[in-house]
Amino acid sequence: MRVLITGGAGFIGANLCAFLTGFPGVRGVVALDDLSTGSADNLDGTSAELVTGSILDRPLLDRLVAAADTVVHLAARPSVPRSLADPVASHEVNATGTVNVLEACRRTGAHLILASSSSVYGDTEVTPKHEDLATRPLSPYGAGKLAAEAYALAYGSSFGLPVLPLRFFNVYGPLQAAGHAYAAVIPAFVDAALCGEPVTVHGDGEQTRDFTYVGTVVRLLADAVLRRVTSPAPVNLAFGTRVTVNQLITMIGEILGAAPAVRHVPARHGDVRHSQAACDRLGLLFPNVDPVPLGDGLKHTVAWF
Ligand code: NAD
Repeated sequence: MRVLITGGAGFIGANLCAFLTGFPGVRGVVALDDLSTGSADNLDGTSAELVTGSILDRPLLDRLVAAADTVVHLAARPSVPRSLADPVASHEVNATGTVNVLEACRRTGAHLILASSSSVYGDTEVTPKHEDLATRPLSPYGAGKLAAEAYALAYGSSFGLPVLPLRFFNVYGPLQAAGHAYAAVIPAFVDAALCGEPVTVHGDGEQTRDFTYVGTVVRLLADAVLRRVTSPAPVNLAFGTRVTVNQLITMIGEILGAAPAVRHVPARHGDVRHSQAACDRLGLLFPNVDPVPLGDGLKHTVAWF
């Protein structure tokens, strides 16, 4: 089994490279990454081959996909605020880049696993969010992810391509970058708390999120690669836990032994209020998955910082 991971030098991609290299049944792992948010350092200690380049380079994609049995497509501009700042760039990478990857897969029939996002649901009051709910993205990022998964499913039905579109919710853990304007909530909070600075909460902190530890995500992705799991419909990748941002801060404070100071700023446009996955479809495809509990995952994450 040879695996190409687009976005392989990013947070989830590099964790997956580390998990897959040396895994029984995996003969080679190639990471394609333009290093726009990822870093070559993330691959230190793995035997994955890094190819520095873009999913917008179609000849390069054709060459790399031709040498792969499965493509895990993670490359993206993965941020709601960045998509609001530059919707066209977001569309180019997240939507057009995905069509490029699908075209390359169509030539060889490679199995494609795609990272979509819970942001496709938008701000619905319905929780948990089942995959058959109407999708109403609130941001260009969410719209691009919806387009990406729609294209993947269309390539499945039109060309018989074996695809698995997964809607990731909030993934966290080691290698997730902190200290920049678009940092995700857990690394931003842990980084601030360790520096003795207040954590910044957008809104009242009663918004909820469904967090999944990256170790759980990469084990599930590896299982999907090895069993060539496909689905004719999108599948939520989260486990239905619902935690408020305020509860998260309390948990981080307990691990660090001191409650972080909190600074409230206005809620961000494009952010959804509540996020919690229905996970019955995931359970049917991956009956043996055993997610790392949030408290344990937070301890591993704090230890990594
Ligand atoms: P990340 O930013 O760490 O990884 C994305 C990687 O893609 C980076 O290494 C970046 O350099 C690379 N990249 C960007 N544009 C590229 C291009 N044109 N060509 C090649 N590489 C390019 O983000 P992540 O958190 O690891 O996210 C991985 C995937 O999961 C993304 O598709 C993201 O939208 C999706 N996702 C993540 C989360 C989460 O909570 N982390 C939630 C929902 C969906």
